[in-house]
Amino acid sequence: MASLNQSSGGHQLLRNGGKWTNARFNSFIKSGLRGMSRRWPPKFECLADACRGAKTNKATGRMAKHYECAECHEHFPAKEVAVDHIQSVVPVTGFTTWDEVIERMFVEKDGLQVLCKACHLVKSAEEKQQRKQAKG
Ligand SMILES: [Zn+2]
Repeated sequence: MASLNQSSGGHQLLRNGGKWTNARFNSFIKSGLRGMSRRWPPKFECLADACRGAKTNKATGRMAKHYECAECHEHFPAKEVAVDHIQSVVPVTGFTTWDEVIERMFVEKDGLQVLCKACHLVKSAEEKQQRKQAKG
């Protein structure tokens, strides 16, 4: 399963005894990998490096650790930040192999950055745009 071509047989039921398309199978594998990436130690190193100490969380009024967004440099509580892959896990030019996805997903901490939700949304939208252009 090192190389799966998404463009071939995308809608054919080739997986799970003929109940799943390759597309469904791929998202099944991808979500499993994403689950693993939440436990990837460099992710926590990246968060620790971005920690700017405890401040009052404006939403709850409680003290909470705050993290600096690598883009806007504002400080946010943990729930309002995401650890982002600087290079998207799936290249904007499209999926090639699971080997590549795994290499790009489990990068060292210098391949990761903390972004606030707003900056993360902007980056995701840009990547989506790049994907569209790469397809066209
Ligand atoms: Zn930000």
